[in-house]
Amino acid sequence: MKIAIIGTGYVGLVTGTCFAETGNEVICVDIDSAKVSRMQNGEIPIYEPGLKVLFDRNIEEGRLKFTTSLKEGIKDAEIIFLALPTPPGEDGSADLKYILGVAQDLGPILENYVVIVDKSTVPVGTAEKVRLAIQKNTTVQFDVVSNPEFLREGVAVDDFMKPERVVVGTTSERAKRVIENLYAPLVRQGNPVIFMDERSAEMTKYAANSFLAMKITFMNEIANLCEKVGANVDDIRKGIGTDSRIGKRFLFAGIGYGGSCFPKDVQALAKTADDYGYDFKTLKSIMAVNGVQKTKLIPILEDYFNGELEGKTIAVWGLAFKPYTDDIRDAPALENIRKLISAGANVTVYDPEAMENVKRIFPQITYCHTAYAALDEADALMIFTEWPQFRTPDFEKMSRLLKEKVIFDGRNLYELNLMREQGFNYFSIGRDSVH
Ligand code: NAD
Repeated sequence: MKIAIIGTGYVGLVTGTCFAETGNEVICVDIDSAKVSRMQNGEIPIYEPGLKVLFDRNIEEGRLKFTTSLKEGIKDAEIIFLALPTPPGEDGSADLKYILGVAQDLGPILENYVVIVDKSTVPVGTAEKVRLAIQKNTTVQFDVVSNPEFLREGVAVDDFMKPERVVVGTTSERAKRVIENLYAPLVRQGNPVIFMDERSAEMTKYAANSFLAMKITFMNEIANLCEKVGANVDDIRKGIGTDSRIGKRFLFAGIGYGGSCFPKDVQALAKTADDYGYDFKTLKSIMAVNGVQKTKLIPILEDYFNGELEGKTIAVWGLAFKPYTDDIRDAPALENIRKLISAGANVTVYDPEAMENVKRIFPQITYCHTAYAALDEADALMIFTEWPQFRTPDFEKMSRLLKEKVIFDGRNLYELNLMREQGFNYFSIGRDSVH
């Protein structure tokens, strides 16, 4: 099939590359001309494990192309994916200007029947808005389908190639057949393609992300209470996660969720609820709790240094909002670094993939080539992302490099007993501190 992908970011590039991998002819369109020329020259603009191999192969075999021209991109396309940003607007709702802007532009250039697929995360009713925006400017037949994306950055290729489920919102039999054929190679093991109406598909994505954000947040509140009552949240996690109704995943306590999806999607769903006159109390609590959780280690750090962070050097391990990505959108590390800087601390950081992106936001801090280099002469270490390489470091080397043997761990990477044995002062989430 001939496919056009409009918007070649994390979702668009993975979608385009993976559909090329299953034999389709894909053209990815983006307005960012610098990004497009990099991709035309074979350079991948994001870090996503496993993507580069597929990207190279499909370019090489002529199935994956890039352009800045919408008209050229959609020529002869049977399916057009919209993988455009939907950032939060000022009132918290998802800003549809990118989606509706492209929809307006599509009308006059459509030539044949085409299925237009919303892959972006969009509020209930958007498929209808897209349909109207296109219809105004064309007499060509088309269908608009909602097909929210559930891939996780860091494992996006696997998630895309073997989705646990594909959700498709459409009432058009014709569009349904096109989408079924497209996804058939990805669901051969029998994972379901779940068809429903457009509004339900749009709502499904927000319900999924908000539920996951709630699971994380609930566990973080249990952790906060654990600290007060003297219980260990890791034991509680194991104790409840083995209950199949609860499940083991998304129960790790920490400094809250971030990233380009959960914060904005929870907020957007809350805004939808408000718009429809429904007081969605759970969502409001999730946002409030997560907001505080992100920087909860800062007052503990301040207490440790008797309120005096001025002139202290704080080493930071981990900047990305989670491991295996260079994505720093809404990463908890950023807000923490902002607070450290405003308290007068010097900050030395290390992250395996995300430093280039952070340099644009904080040019004044020190970026190190290794995790250990960040510790040299630092007064304390803070950990914000659970990259595997931080899990079993050389503690003796750390002891030699750090001025004070103290760790503030936002991701609970180390066992308390190990920290006692190694003689570290250790502060984590939902567990006793070690002195
Ligand atoms: P992104 O910012 O990485 O990519 C968006 C791309 O669209 C950018 O390259 C931008 O230059 C391009 N663009 C903007 N306006 C354009 C236009 N008029 N024409 C062509 N290109 C244009 O965003 P993303 O992370 O890929 O997210 C896209 C959507 O998918 C969002 O709605 C997001 O909520 C959703 N989503 C994201 C993820 C994720 O993990 N990143 C997962 C599921 C769903």
